[in-house]
Amino acid sequence: MDLKDKIALITGAGSGIGRASSLLMAKQGAKVVLVDFNQETGEETLKMVKEQGGEGVFVQADVSKDEDVQRYVQTAVDTFGRIDVFFNNAGIIQKFAPLTEVEETEFDRIMSVNVKGVFLGLKYVLKVMENQGCGSIINTASTAGVRSEHSTSVYSASKHAVIGLTKSASLEYVKKGIRVNAICPGGVKTALTNSVEQMFVQSGYVPEEIPNMRMGRYAQPEELAEMVAFLASDKASYMTGSVVVVDGGLTL
Ligand code: NAD
Repeated sequence: MDLKDKIALITGAGSGIGRASSLLMAKQGAKVVLVDFNQETGEETLKMVKEQGGEGVFVQADVSKDEDVQRYVQTAVDTFGRIDVFFNNAGIIQKFAPLTEVEETEFDRIMSVNVKGVFLGLKYVLKVMENQGCGSIINTASTAGVRSEHSTSVYSASKHAVIGLTKSASLEYVKKGIRVNAICPGGVKTALTNSVEQMFVQSGYVPEEIPNMRMGRYAQPEELAEMVAFLASDKASYMTGSVVVVDGGLTL
């Protein structure tokens, strides 16, 4: 019970890495505030949390909207009085295309969720944590945030930006008892990867890394959740500003 009585706020909690992390952190004793754009899947995660004996609430919100972010942060504070852990995780993948063929609207769509959403979450949660004098934040970047990726230039740029925000926030708040780290998943079997696979088929482009994943398989979301729960907990007390790659050797 490494997270006993901690209050954990999770975005993108309705699916994949966000859902697995919500379930694991709840199992480790955290009370969870689940945020997702998708009401149905978000409520489903809450039901799963309760079925395993946990406690939590769900907030339907779009992380790219300032008023929605203020509302989910306020709900966490009103419901549980504090925010100990923030898993700033919601993100979307771009439509595969060479850079010259990416529409401006697609650039804006990706940046508004993957960068603005992460920025707004940090902005309002850091204020709460600053008043408390403690907290742990985990932002979801990607291996696309530490190297180039074919046909996903804007997604890659957005994830590089998440790492920039992580390092800046960790530096600015290190003296205030707040730790800010990022995880970089490689390929994880989620709804997001299913849509990537469909795009591979449609575009005829399959990156060498996918069939040749060093471990010969995708990660399961639960394998990322273990790192999230570790970074959330006091076991990671000396870690801040770290960019933790969890990719089964993909970037080797
Ligand atoms: P997923 O699609 O299974 O889950 C993402 C969740 O975020 C969904 O429930 C979706 O409804 C929610 N969401 C999307 N836009 C939102 C918005 N504007 N407001 C609120 N919620 C929103 O995907 P996943 O694979 O679990 O991805 C989680 C994070 O991990 C993302 O940031 C993604 O970029 C990152 N990531 C995933 C992989 C992978 O291989 N799956 C690899 C690297 C990084």
